[in-house]
Amino acid sequence: MRCPFCGTQDTKVLDSRLVSEGAQVRRRRTCGHCQERFTTFEIAELQMPKLIKNDGSREAFDEDKLRSGIVKALEKRPVSIEAIETAITRIKEKLQATGERELPSRIIGEAVMEELKRLDQVAYVRFASVYRSFKDISEFREEIERLESGQTTSEEK
Ligand SMILES: [Zn+2]
Repeated sequence: MRCPFCGTQDTKVLDSRLVSEGAQVRRRRTCGHCQERFTTFEIAELQMPKLIKNDGSREAFDEDKLRSGIVKALEKRPVSIEAIETAITRIKEKLQATGERELPSRIIGEAVMEELKRLDQVAYVRFASVYRSFKDISEFREEIERLESGQTTSEEK
């Protein structure tokens, strides 16, 4: 691995540890030439399925778009970056595990709702209210009541 500071190939791994529930390896490295330290992450390269939009057009999976949707729903909520990254990894693994080359794009919205429900219920309701576009306050209240009673929604059966 080339040193990002001086460009020499003479770098060493100081330590390695698993992060994101074992989905990534984080390595601390040091340069034998300039002594700078840096970190690398190693992650399995997954070929993500293409997404089929409602109008039938295809779109490449966009991890940044997924992340920004989740981060927006979790704005000012007590959830760590690490937990968000773990959720993103889990969503990607879920898409990957289908073995399909193309999937309807709503699968992502559903996977995000499932992760948010686990992470933070306020964020879940925020996301779901936009995603499912609740028609009025009573639909919204029903969803909250479902959450409180621990039931799953009919769409998820
Ligand atoms: Zn260096």
